[in-house]
Amino acid sequence: MSETTTTTTAAYGLRARAARLDAADPLAARRDLFALDDGVYLDGNSLGALPVHVPARVQDVLTRQWGELRIRSWDESGWWTAPERIGDRIAPLVGAAAGRIVVGDSTSVNVFKAVVAAARIAGEGRDEILVDATTFPTDGYIAASAARLTGHRIVPVAPADVPSALGPRTAVALLNHVDYRSGRLHDLPGLTAAVHAAGALAVWDLCHSAGALPVGLDEHGVDLAVGCTYKYLNGGPGAPAYLYVAERHQAAFDSPLPGWNSHADPFGMTPGYTPADGSVRGRVGTPDIVSMLTLEAALDVWDGVEVAAVRAKSLALTDFFLECVEAYVPAGRVTSVTPAAHAERGSQVALRCDAAEPVMRRLIERGVVGDLRRPDVLRFGFTPLYVGFADAERAARVLAEVLGEIPSPGPLA
Ligand SMILES: *Cc1c(COP(=O)(O)O)cnc(C)c1O
Repeated sequence: MSETTTTTTAAYGLRARAARLDAADPLAARRDLFALDDGVYLDGNSLGALPVHVPARVQDVLTRQWGELRIRSWDESGWWTAPERIGDRIAPLVGAAAGRIVVGDSTSVNVFKAVVAAARIAGEGRDEILVDATTFPTDGYIAASAARLTGHRIVPVAPADVPSALGPRTAVALLNHVDYRSGRLHDLPGLTAAVHAAGALAVWDLCHSAGALPVGLDEHGVDLAVGCTYKYLNGGPGAPAYLYVAERHQAAFDSPLPGWNSHADPFGMTPGYTPADGSVRGRVGTPDIVSMLTLEAALDVWDGVEVAAVRAKSLALTDFFLECVEAYVPAGRVTSVTPAAHAERGSQVALRCDAAEPVMRRLIERGVVGDLRRPDVLRFGFTPLYVGFADAERAARVLAEVLGEIPSPGPLA
C-alpha cells in the first residue's frame, strides 16, 4: 500500500471513531455555550473561550450596576462580597469547602502572598524555599524576591527530586500541579505528604489543572494554593486569580500585602491593622469588579458539571489525539513530551518538533490554534467543555499536512 492510501484508510477509521465518540460524549452539548468558529481551538489552556451569555451580563454590570446604581452597587449589586462569593463558586472545582478561597489580583501576586505567608507559618529555623526548577517563570521570579525579603534561600529542584531535597531546613515547597510546558501532572497527594513529613508547607500552583482535572485541595491536606481563572475556567483575559488557605492555617495567615480590604473593619479607617478572619484576609485592595463579575458570569458553564466527567473526557481526548498523530504524522517528525501514563498527564499534549515556529504559524492559518513554547514545543490544550473528538482528529490531520509541506530538517536529535 502506498503511504497516501495508508493515511486515507487510517483517516476513514479515525474519523468514524471520532464521530461515534462525539455522539456518546455527555459533555458534547456544552460546546454550544461558547462563542467558537469552525476552527479547532486548542489554546484554552492559555485563554479559555468566551461563554456566549457573558457579554450581556457584563453589559448589565456596566450600564445598570455602574451607570445607574453607581456607589450603591457595592452593596446592592453584591460588589463588596464578590471575592469570597466567587471563591466559593471555584471551590468545588478544586475540592475545597466554602470559605477557603478568595478571588483577586493576579496569580503572580497570589504566589507572593502564599509563599511569604507559608514561610511565616513555618517559623524560625527553617530557611529554605524549594521551588520547582521547571516552573512557569513568574512563580520562580516571585519566590526569589519573597526569599530575599524573608531571609530564606531558594533551592531549585526538579519535581521528581523534591522528596530527597526536603529536610529540617525546608520551610515551603512551591510546586506546580501540571507543568505548563510538557503537560506533566505531578503527584499532588504524594508530594504534599512528603512535604508535611519534613515539617514544611506545600504551596501548589493550579493554573494548568483547575477546571481540567480533580485537585482535592482539602482531601489531600494542601496548605496553600493559587491559580488563574483565564485558562480552563474561561474567566476572560486578565481575569483575577485566586488564593486558597487551608482552614487550619487561616488564623495564622499573615499577609505580606495587608491592604485595607483585608482589615477586620475596613471602613473603621483606623491607623492600626487588625486582620479580618477567614478567606477575606487574603484580599489586598479594591477588587477589580468588572473582571471579577465577568468571571462570575463565565463560571455558569460549570453548573451541573462533574470534574470527574471532565477528567474522563480530557484523557480520552488526549489519548485519541496522540493516536491520530501516530497514525497520520510521518515517523520521526514529532515526539510527545507529554507522559503516556494517565496518572502523569494533564489536559494538554506537547509535541517536540523541528521548525516548530513555522509549523504552528501554518496550523493557525488553517484554523488549528495551538501555541508554541520556544524553541521547539507545539502545545495543544484540550478543554473538555468545548473541544470534541472530531476536533482532535482534524488537528492531527492538519498537522500531518503542514509537516508534509515543510521539509524535514533531518531526524530529530
Ligand atoms: C498562567 C500561569 C501563571 C500566570 O500568572 P499571571 O500572574 O496571571 O500572569 C502563573 N503561573 C503558572 C504556573 C501559570 O501557568
